[in-house]
Amino acid sequence: MTVFSTWGTDGPSGAGAPISFSQDMPIRALMGWSGLIISDESVDIVDMTREYAARARAESCGQCFPCRMGTEEMAEIMERICDGRGVMEDIDRLEAVAGYVHESSRCDIGLTSPHPILDAIYSFRDRFVEAIREAKPVPRGEYVCQVTAPCISACPTRVNIPGYVEKIRMRHWDEAIKIVRDTCCMPGTIGRVCVKDCEFKCKRGAIDEPIAIRHLKRVAADMELKAGGASVPEKPLKDEKAAIVGAGPAGLSCAYYLGLKGYRSTIFEALPEPGGMAAVGIPDYRLPRDILRGEAAMVEAVGAEIRYSVKVGEDITIPQMLEQGYRAVFIAAGAPNSSAMGCEGEDAGYRGYMPGVEFLRKVAFGEKPLSGRKILVIGGGNVAMDCVRSARRLGFTDVNLLYRRTEKEMPADPFEIADSKDEGVKFHTLVAPVKIHASGGRVTALECVRMILGRPDASGRRKPIPEEKSNFLMDCDAIVPAIGQSCEVDRFAPEGIGVNKNRTLAVDPVTMRSSVPYIFGGGDCVTGPSTLVAALAAGRRAARSIMDYLETGDSAPRPEDWLDKAVSSLSRPGHSDDAPFAVLTHRHHPPMTDPETRIHSFAEVEGCLSPAEAGQEAGRCLRCYRIAIAALR
Ligand SMILES: Cc1cc2nc3c(=O)[nH]c(=O)nc-3n(C[C@H](O)[C@H](O)[C@H](O)COP(=O)(O)OP(=O)(O)OC[C@H]3O[C@@H](n4cnc5c(N)ncnc54)[C@H](O)[C@@H]3O)c2cc1C
Repeated sequence: MTVFSTWGTDGPSGAGAPISFSQDMPIRALMGWSGLIISDESVDIVDMTREYAARARAESCGQCFPCRMGTEEMAEIMERICDGRGVMEDIDRLEAVAGYVHESSRCDIGLTSPHPILDAIYSFRDRFVEAIREAKPVPRGEYVCQVTAPCISACPTRVNIPGYVEKIRMRHWDEAIKIVRDTCCMPGTIGRVCVKDCEFKCKRGAIDEPIAIRHLKRVAADMELKAGGASVPEKPLKDEKAAIVGAGPAGLSCAYYLGLKGYRSTIFEALPEPGGMAAVGIPDYRLPRDILRGEAAMVEAVGAEIRYSVKVGEDITIPQMLEQGYRAVFIAAGAPNSSAMGCEGEDAGYRGYMPGVEFLRKVAFGEKPLSGRKILVIGGGNVAMDCVRSARRLGFTDVNLLYRRTEKEMPADPFEIADSKDEGVKFHTLVAPVKIHASGGRVTALECVRMILGRPDASGRRKPIPEEKSNFLMDCDAIVPAIGQSCEVDRFAPEGIGVNKNRTLAVDPVTMRSSVPYIFGGGDCVTGPSTLVAALAAGRRAARSIMDYLETGDSAPRPEDWLDKAVSSLSRPGHSDDAPFAVLTHRHHPPMTDPETRIHSFAEVEGCLSPAEAGQEAGRCLRCYRIAIAALR
């Protein structure tokens, strides 16, 4: 319920707040970069303004004079008023300083933090006057604070992006990597293959081009490697231990953050290799295996044990884990199976037919699972792109991608599409498979039908409809469907646990706890096929809940979770007119191996920016930091 709001307006509107706080949220009021939202009239707005001003002072980087001096003075005035030493002139002075900071600062802390302070004075001047008249100390309330930015809000791990970018600008590599690892424990991996939602929200993108946020993470990770790798603080280990199913990004992340707090964990992994789909899905030319192994070694260094080639459900069960002293279990088993195409002949076991995930897994273990000259890969996502590009490197000379919609609707990253084309992959759109033709148990051709696009379906994309009598044959030596993946947690999770229809584990999205109190879940086995960064974030969130559970026997959302939820719903993309001091710049692009060379090996394609280039790239950041605080019930 909202009783008062100035959010997004130039003064009190009383209504139209972009969010309202339900009874289950422990938040009474929110003060942030675009105003105030109050759900409980008894909130002490004077004390809340003191807290906000103090946070603004703490977060100001101090590099521009108006913000440095202005936030200092605003915080001092509010402390004076709340200590009972204020004078009436303080209100006018606060108003004047806030206006000056807002108009003259260079980055968002200075540009935005005066906004709610001015709203508080305009709307509740009488309360400031009363506090000064009473001349008594104002009792301190309880608050949580979040520093955010459009890029931070877009990242599931909430990495402090402007923070590490700034450290890179100053060439403080070790501090930069430390900031990343605070919330994202695989910087070398994510710095190479993240889907980079942050860059789509980067305010610089509205002016010229987004900052190379992903790549800068990679530069910091590579610099750390060059300097001899990361050091891990020694920590006494506690007695409580957790079991983790799967050494993919979610499992590794959970183990890392448990280990940092001294909790032991054992990861049971079915494969002989860490990294999950990052290792056996994403090919080496995008993510070299050594990087992944190094990051898994970090997880072991903080106190986790990884037991390889142990399949949970076959080699050990969850009840047996409890008997062995594990008090909590984190299920992070991913989405390991390829979805079926619904095409005649796909279950016939023909040679030359192999689902995409299996194909890539075999390639990752050094096999050449398919051979011949012409291959057809069906799908339009990143997995399909990895299949065609891998096929090219395995020696297929005629590599074809078949997709049932148009290129515009393809879910794959546009860069992956461009790279595939550069490597000679042929794209066939508005085509769907109908039947696999074989001779002597080996595929010879794929019968396809042409498609037309109808009205948008549930996904928002136009629905492909088969065109009548348009069947045609494409001859081939190999067929690889890559149209999606599925989960199977019910194969090993204890009976009675909440499992969704699509065989994913049902968990609370904040605590990651399942219907069984000691079992938590996260990553693809909860969401269905998603992204590395989402899996890393889920693992960290689960680690926090598991620690709560091990300490108290329970796990519940914390106030900062509620503030994060509120802040996420308030975020908006950047606009160029919010950056009055920005000048036009050019993004630095890392070097790439040319297509002719790269198709002959699985060597990494993307090179690394030099330290000087990385410093210049980091200098393009507009530091769009914003502060929000919530008054708690
Ligand atoms: C080909 C491909 C390319 C991709 N490219 C990208 C990309 O560029 N960027 C991006 O962000 N995301 C990408 N993804 C998605 C990303 O890899 C996944 O979202 C992410 O790995 C999910 O992490 P996870 O830990 O939940 O599961 P996984 O990575 O799948 O790890 C699960 C682990 O659990 C193990 N396991 C499963 N069952 C058991 C069991 N019963 N007992 C023991 N161990 C078990 C598995 O062997 C596996 O190691 C890609 C996925 C694929 C398939």
